[in-house]
Amino acid sequence: MGLIMNLIPLPAFSDNYIWLLQHNGRALVVDPGDAQPVLDALAPTGWVLDHILVTHHHADHVGGVAALTAATSATVYGPAHEQLPIDVIPMTQGQGLSWQGVDFEVIDVPGHTAGHIAYWGHPPGMAPVLFCGDTLFSGGCGRLFEGTPAQMLHSLDQLSALPEATQVCCAHEYTLSNLKFALEVDPTNLDLIAYQTHCQTLRAQGMPTLPAHLGLERKINPFLRSRQPAVRASLRHRPPTPMHDADYLAALRQWKNEYR
Ligand code: ZN
Ligand code: FE
Repeated sequence: MGLIMNLIPLPAFSDNYIWLLQHNGRALVVDPGDAQPVLDALAPTGWVLDHILVTHHHADHVGGVAALTAATSATVYGPAHEQLPIDVIPMTQGQGLSWQGVDFEVIDVPGHTAGHIAYWGHPPGMAPVLFCGDTLFSGGCGRLFEGTPAQMLHSLDQLSALPEATQVCCAHEYTLSNLKFALEVDPTNLDLIAYQTHCQTLRAQGMPTLPAHLGLERKINPFLRSRQPAVRASLRHRPPTPMHDADYLAALRQWKNEYR
């Protein structure tokens, strides 16, 4: 039994990923909105599902949990401050959990939903992993359904401060449409232009663009760059009149909501 852990995105619905970590015949999954892709991964391999991690209450993230707990003896962790249709061990900032010798820490990331949490851990022999649900996407961020721009800015700042080698395990394959918008905001960003070409090649081959690399996201994701002069310059003429840091993020998010 080696030290290697496998990190696998299981496609679900039209554009979700259910992330699966696998080690020594055991498995952990994140945000199983549908049980079937997980059961289909467990059946032929015999992997035993130990843990289910939930980031927020939306159905495309929790919808498969009940069927998985009925079929396995998995322990379910989830956000302490959300109403969920399933029982979870409630988690909030400062708490942690452990799986196969890996310690995961919980980060409160309100914005997309009011009680959204993320999980960060550093498995041996691989780069750290971040399970961020619908808070941070490659080239984008989640819609503000329940939280304020100031909350989302603080949440994104916390994620952006994690080690740059962190593998960002987003819950949706939104990268190409996010990058199209990002280039509208930041058209002269050479890292962004190169990354778009890279992601277009991956998608043309039917490959996921994820996990993303946090260090690169800091260079290309306008929602992690809302304090950068180049990003602020392109927000000049967009309401509301930006004054505070969170107003720039709000203007950026509003522009993205309207962008086609
Ligand atoms: Zn969501
Ligand atoms: Fe979602």
